[in-house]
Amino acid sequence: RFISLEGGEGVGKSTQLLLLAEALKARGLSVVTTREPGGTPGAEAIRGLLMTGAVDRWSPRTEALLFAAARADHVERVIRPALAAGSWVLCDRFIDSTRAYQGVAGGLTDDEILALHRVGSQGLMPDRTLVLTMPVAAATARMVARDGADADRFAARSDGFLDRVADAFVALAAREPERFRLVAADGPAEAVTARLVAALADLTS
Ligand code: C5P
Repeated sequence: RFISLEGGEGVGKSTQLLLLAEALKARGLSVVTTREPGGTPGAEAIRGLLMTGAVDRWSPRTEALLFAAARADHVERVIRPALAAGSWVLCDRFIDSTRAYQGVAGGLTDDEILALHRVGSQGLMPDRTLVLTMPVAAATARMVARDGADADRFAARSDGFLDRVADAFVALAAREPERFRLVAADGPAEAVTARLVAALADLTS
């Protein structure tokens, strides 16, 4: 099974990815955790291009192409082989981040982004996409507490941009209710993990 974990910055995605992996392993499943952009040496190199420099170093269109290239490498070399070997793959962000950030918030159409995804990654879609939700103000406060000042070029984006991203995930979820689950990211970490496990119940049974 292929599971992606999505949400804006500061919602605790990376922590929850590891906790969810532990929970699934405890049930005897073989689990591979990975992240986007990144997950292979080549994709991590593209991540370096994306994360550094001025906030306008790349336009949303160029960003989408770089994400699609990084994802192609990641899908081909890590995700598909792991799925073929029978593992569960838990991925920190996937195609829906590009649809939300470069699409809804950045101005590209969903068709353009999905076309790049078909070329780059043969349109591979997660079996389940878990969206961690939290008010943008609370998530931003957590991020500032974690990173101090601006950690990368994306941190310079306006609050309005992050609101559009948060709304975009909710809108995507409404369009594909079978694949998506919205999961509240507030409260103790173990409680959030339990909600994520519950949101996979139909896939694990
Ligand atoms: O997952 P994480 O929060 O570390 O994401 C790294 C950064 O990449 C985020 O700040 C996010 O704004 C940005 N990003 C993006 N477009 C994507 C995926 C991530 O702008 N498609």
